[in-house]
Amino acid sequence: MTNRRSPLTALISTPEQLASALNIPLAPLKAIHAVYPLRISAYYLELIKKVGMPLWRQAVPDMRELDDPIGMKDPLDEENLSPVPYLVHKYPDRALFLVSNECAMYCRFCTRKRKVGKPEMQITDATIAAGLDYLKKTPAISDVLLSGGDPLMLSDSRLEWILKALRAIPSIATIRIGTRVPCTLPMRVTLKLAAMLKKYHPLYINTHFNHPAEITPESTLACNRLANAGIPLGCQTVLLRGINDSPEIIRQLMYLLIQIRVKPYYLFQADLTLGTSHFRTTIDTGLDIMQHLIGHVSGLAVPTYALDAPGGGGKIPLTPEYTSSLGKTLEFMTYRGEPCSYPNEITVWK
Ligand SMILES: *Cc1c(COP(=O)(O)O)cnc(C)c1O
Ligand code: SF4
Repeated sequence: MTNRRSPLTALISTPEQLASALNIPLAPLKAIHAVYPLRISAYYLELIKKVGMPLWRQAVPDMRELDDPIGMKDPLDEENLSPVPYLVHKYPDRALFLVSNECAMYCRFCTRKRKVGKPEMQITDATIAAGLDYLKKTPAISDVLLSGGDPLMLSDSRLEWILKALRAIPSIATIRIGTRVPCTLPMRVTLKLAAMLKKYHPLYINTHFNHPAEITPESTLACNRLANAGIPLGCQTVLLRGINDSPEIIRQLMYLLIQIRVKPYYLFQADLTLGTSHFRTTIDTGLDIMQHLIGHVSGLAVPTYALDAPGGGGKIPLTPEYTSSLGKTLEFMTYRGEPCSYPNEITVWK
């Protein structure tokens, strides 16, 4: 963005700026920046300095991004599932509409690493008009997810133009916004923005926190402003090796999210995205974390652990195995691991 920003909302986006801010070697940053964009908000940079590795690794380029033998450029096959550019229609009744090519931070593990923040991702009035036109002509779609990039990186007026156009399409019932701004640039969530969003209910926001240290007074204020505008808030956390891949860290994060009125929605297995393999855990790790949550913490704090199937198969829930056999009785174990059973027949009393 070229407009002037206050110090808190300043964005670091060159290898030189980052090398000097963190006192790290410039050459690797330059090599990675030649392939993938770089951006960290001044706010998140201060958090990195305070907290260290779990936040550092989400934001600071790593040479392993350039040495990934197994990742895929477009693991979810989004390009083939786009009837018009920047609109992914994978499920019958909902669509993912990419309305922004920018984020406040370029997360190193991003699923859309192939395009987000790159010059070839050109979102214009014309691509948005084409997406709106497709939505108008496809009344089966009742739930539209605005994403990008990050829709909250648009100006209030541009975002409102899009929301107004969506609300003029009678077949669209629900609008969702996917945004990491409450976590990475919380001061963007002004009272003015919340008051604007509130006019377009039912509007849901799914935000994205990955570590308890990201819940700060600033991000709390941002979420409170949105919740006070009547917007139900969810969180889509990504399970990341060396960042949050332990039951204790995820439990803390989920509890803190509940405290700031954000309902954990998905815990995602990291996608098979090129340049992100160093972040991936095994699925066993995720199942073990879920087993430590289910029954042990408030049900409100339990997300659905899911993987997004390669090739556009959609999200698949992954649940620890509680049942061992289903015949005339269901044999299962409780959350404490005790064996238990339940009849699988209907008794008819004569
Ligand atoms: C994740 C996703 C959705 C929404 O899925 P929900 O399970 O309804 O949250 C819709 N479209 C695409 C392309 C997606 O990737
Ligand atoms: S905020 Fe979301 S879209 Fe943007 S870089 Fe991070 S993960 Fe990708």
